[in-house]
Amino acid sequence: MRDSDAGQAPVTVIGLGLMGQALAGAFLKNGHATTVWNRSADKAEELAAQGAVRADSARDAVAASPLVVVCVTDYDVVHELLDPLGDVLAGRVLVNLTSGTSEQARETAQWAAQRGYTYLDGAIMTIPQGIGAADTLLFYSGPRSAFDTHESALRSLGGATTYLGADHALSSLYDMALLTIMWNVMNGFLHGAALLGTADVPAATFAPAAIKLIATVAGWVPGYADQIDSGKYPAVDSTIDTHLAAMEHLIHESESLGIHAELPRFVKALTDRAVAEGHGGDGYAAMIEQFRRPSAAGR
Ligand code: NAP
Repeated sequence: MRDSDAGQAPVTVIGLGLMGQALAGAFLKNGHATTVWNRSADKAEELAAQGAVRADSARDAVAASPLVVVCVTDYDVVHELLDPLGDVLAGRVLVNLTSGTSEQARETAQWAAQRGYTYLDGAIMTIPQGIGAADTLLFYSGPRSAFDTHESALRSLGGATTYLGADHALSSLYDMALLTIMWNVMNGFLHGAALLGTADVPAATFAPAAIKLIATVAGWVPGYADQIDSGKYPAVDSTIDTHLAAMEHLIHESESLGIHAELPRFVKALTDRAVAEGHGGDGYAAMIEQFRRPSAAGR
């Protein structure tokens, strides 16, 4: 039976840290009978005042609902809490929104399969304050039927809820793929703000230009994606050789102003490698070949 057929289906949330409290709060707000459990019981007080049922144990919490959401510090804690529960999870859907790697997701899926549990791995692309918003993105991967059954309840957590596929690893991989974008964009902004700071330009004055540049670069993504998927990198706008020359300016500028130059030096080192391999006349998307190999430190 789907949630929509069942009315607002009961949900259990295990782990009431900053994120778990937000998750349970969103389920309650959407009319789901919500059972909660946390190691430190005091964190359930506010939710209980909003109508949540406090379970006395993790086992009782799991037994209360067909959908069990766990969100704790890491996968070791997930196992510490759930391993001793025996078959109380059988016949329920376990959704793990704890952050981890794709390897941990696959291992946990195997662990669940050995016990006959139905398992969805998930990843949350927001902070607790963003839970429940219409544009909030959460990823799920694992059996489609389990996602379909509980989609309506899971949509309480974010309107941009997305099912990625049967491979449990996908949620963590998307999480990692987006985190690398986030840190690279933010580090670029911080480096730029540090450069402009040497001319007493406040970061707030720089911000509008930075936002415009980030939007421009975002517009390039679909074309790059097509080139990556086709394995052909025609230089439709500029060549890697042209980028390389500008990188040298950036390193020189940073060094001469006393600004940390490790980031542009790293980018240039990757680019030098691409040029040495004959990609100087290609478009920038050809740099994907450098990322497909382990770094020197990992070799
Ligand atoms: P948090 O506030 O530190 O909460 C950690 C939770 O794990 C608490 O419920 C804590 O219980 C529980 N826990 C830790 N060790 C435990 C143990 N040995 N036994 C039982 N329970 C244990 O962290 P959070 O911000 O809620 O994050 C939870 C997960 O969500 C993490 O994997 C995080 O990466 C992910 N996440 C968080 C955010 C965010 O912005 N906060 C965003 C995306 C994803 P106690 O209360 O008893 O200590």
